[in-house]
Amino acid sequence: MRVTTAFNRLLALPGISVREVSFDADTVVVEVVLRRRRLHCPECEFSTAARYDRRPVLSSWRHTDMGRWEVLVRARLRRLDCPTHGVRTEAVPFARYRAGFSRDFEDLVAFLATKTDKTTITRLARVDWDSVGRICERVVADGLDPARLDGLVSIGVDEVSWKRHHNYLTLVTDHTAKKIVWGAEGKDTATLDAFFAELGSERAGQLEAVSLDMGAAFNKSARDNAPKAVRCIDPFHAVKLVTDALDTVRRTTWNELRALPDKAAAKKFKGARWCLLKRPDNLTDDQAATLRQLRRRGGDLWRAYSLKEAFREIFSGDLDADETAELIDRWCSRASRSRLAPFVKVAKTIRKFRDGILAAIRLKINNARAEGLNNHVRLITRRAYGFHSPKAALALVMLSCGPIELQLPRERSPD
Ligand SMILES: [Zn+2]
Repeated sequence: MRVTTAFNRLLALPGISVREVSFDADTVVVEVVLRRRRLHCPECEFSTAARYDRRPVLSSWRHTDMGRWEVLVRARLRRLDCPTHGVRTEAVPFARYRAGFSRDFEDLVAFLATKTDKTTITRLARVDWDSVGRICERVVADGLDPARLDGLVSIGVDEVSWKRHHNYLTLVTDHTAKKIVWGAEGKDTATLDAFFAELGSERAGQLEAVSLDMGAAFNKSARDNAPKAVRCIDPFHAVKLVTDALDTVRRTTWNELRALPDKAAAKKFKGARWCLLKRPDNLTDDQAATLRQLRRRGGDLWRAYSLKEAFREIFSGDLDADETAELIDRWCSRASRSRLAPFVKVAKTIRKFRDGILAAIRLKINNARAEGLNNHVRLITRRAYGFHSPKAALALVMLSCGPIELQLPRERSPD
């Protein structure tokens, strides 16, 4: 068998013929030509037999490694004049537009990005992390199901932080399919308005429920754009608000202790954060001991802790909306009489969103169901911290949690 024939089989790239193979230090360089005569626009369906000029455009792509060899595919491409897009270098059937990698290589890297960490991927695939981000963007642009916004009935809106320093992504979940169907940078009213603009008023009119947090921004957008949908407050958000109030009380107590001459007390207390915030059944022995100490000590902090636990308990069982309503009301009056300013404030907010919380219980839209997805999203956004653009971070979220079926090269049917 000739070397060129062997490499045609080995590369398995559609639409090319191998002309020549040579070896560099650690790279196999494969020169190929396109088999098709017609030139295709890389940005639309337009094709033509006419070249724009005779000047060849030297192009190269990384393909999947062969053993310990990197594989570089090179071709001389032609230029065409598309009536819509103007003068462009012709598209190739084996790589995405403007990619320096073959489709096979990109699909493999995108698959890895959803499964494992940055160090593993960059070392295994020998690409830098920003290239991984751009690969994710291209694979998503290529593979995202365009019908994913059709037939939405019940959606959830969440913000996740991406990187430090107040970078946020807003994500829309389809509660039925348990997939993220939309995302954008930011977390204000305009961000969610952009989702509804893309959805259009007809599809927005079919929404029956929108679950969200208690922030004004998303509530305003949902009220304006999907007036018929029931706005549900995920109990998870309410519990988080109460947990934050406890943390405020904890910090105040700690600062008071630090001001005392006995530094040991403050030091001992420093580790108390997790034992207070974690569920009591998840505590380590040490944390449980700290908690017992806090209980003996009593005071504001213990009252705040008891209030937090009482609130969390309301949602940990499977009470119906009426039972929940009664417990929420009772909790709110207890919290407003607690003389703990953060809890008095939270009780006010909870009262204001009481109906939304109950709607979530009635429609069984609660975090317990979506928790798996939420945890996964958090894991993925943390992995995306190193990307430079929020678009890349969003792309990784969509790849991992969106309606995309990632296929590895050998799983894809040959074109
Ligand atoms: Zn075109």
